[in-house]
Amino acid sequence: MIPYTCLDEATEALGRDLTWAETLWFNYSAQKSDYFLYCHNILFLFLIFSVVPLPFVFVELLRSAGFDKYKIQPKVRLSLSDMFRCYKDVMTMFILVVGPLQLASYPSIKIIGIRTGLPLPSGWEIVSQLVVYFMIEDYTNYWFHRFLHGKWGYEKIHKVHHEYTAPIGYAAPYAHWAEILILGIPSFLGPAIAPGHLITFWLWIALRQIEAIDTHSGYDFPWSPTKYIPFYGGADYHDYHHYVGGQSHSNFASVFTYCDYIYGTDKGFRYQKKLIRKMNEDFKSGGAQNGYSSPIPTHDLKSD
Ligand SMILES: [Zn+2]
Ligand SMILES: [Zn+2]
Repeated sequence: MIPYTCLDEATEALGRDLTWAETLWFNYSAQKSDYFLYCHNILFLFLIFSVVPLPFVFVELLRSAGFDKYKIQPKVRLSLSDMFRCYKDVMTMFILVVGPLQLASYPSIKIIGIRTGLPLPSGWEIVSQLVVYFMIEDYTNYWFHRFLHGKWGYEKIHKVHHEYTAPIGYAAPYAHWAEILILGIPSFLGPAIAPGHLITFWLWIALRQIEAIDTHSGYDFPWSPTKYIPFYGGADYHDYHHYVGGQSHSNFASVFTYCDYIYGTDKGFRYQKKLIRKMNEDFKSGGAQNGYSSPIPTHDLKSD
């Protein structure tokens, strides 16, 4: 809650005029408790889990040749009821685990010092904190995920997330309840190390989930703006991890590619990409004579 009763008081306390964003924030949040503001995350997550995968559902149902050429595993087709079943499972987990976790984690937000007042952070502060959060999450998630691929972790917990060998957007948060709790730690670590404004925290939770939906979408669109993010893994990268399945020792990182490169856990993926590139080159230069009937657009060759 903002400790000023009116805009004039806030202007005086800041020693300058409020920006339009600060005025907006004041008008919206001044009479609301910090707990209520923090709980907005539940609504945001519900909307993101429900709405963001929808375009991929339409694309999957449309089955147009224009989109199909970007499907990573084109042999796998999911019906509307398949996708709805996944959404229903995710929503059950949302009501039983994700929502209550948000409600209960409020004290930790207070302890680390997430602020809700004025002034608002600058655009530069928000962007730099988000970059740090993504990097911390990516590194920590890499090791947690790698641990979950051990015999015990996989059998007891992570197997659920791997039920989808060809993932879809709705399958991004599809996981065992323990995995949701465990992988909440890497997401929380960045804000704990570099705490910022609640708006930055909202953005972080939202962007991380949108990124997860993108990497589980099953489609690798060349026009995706994420193609301009250095070292970004993307759908093709994580799809391979699901494709190989439980035995996968490849592509553990959640966002970027450098951890897998540094620790040598992307060798299978890189080898397979090289092989497909070579086969497609051979196809272009007289494929039928070489025994290939069509170009290979996806990771349809297991090599991990
Ligand atoms: Zn995995
Ligand atoms: Zn996944």
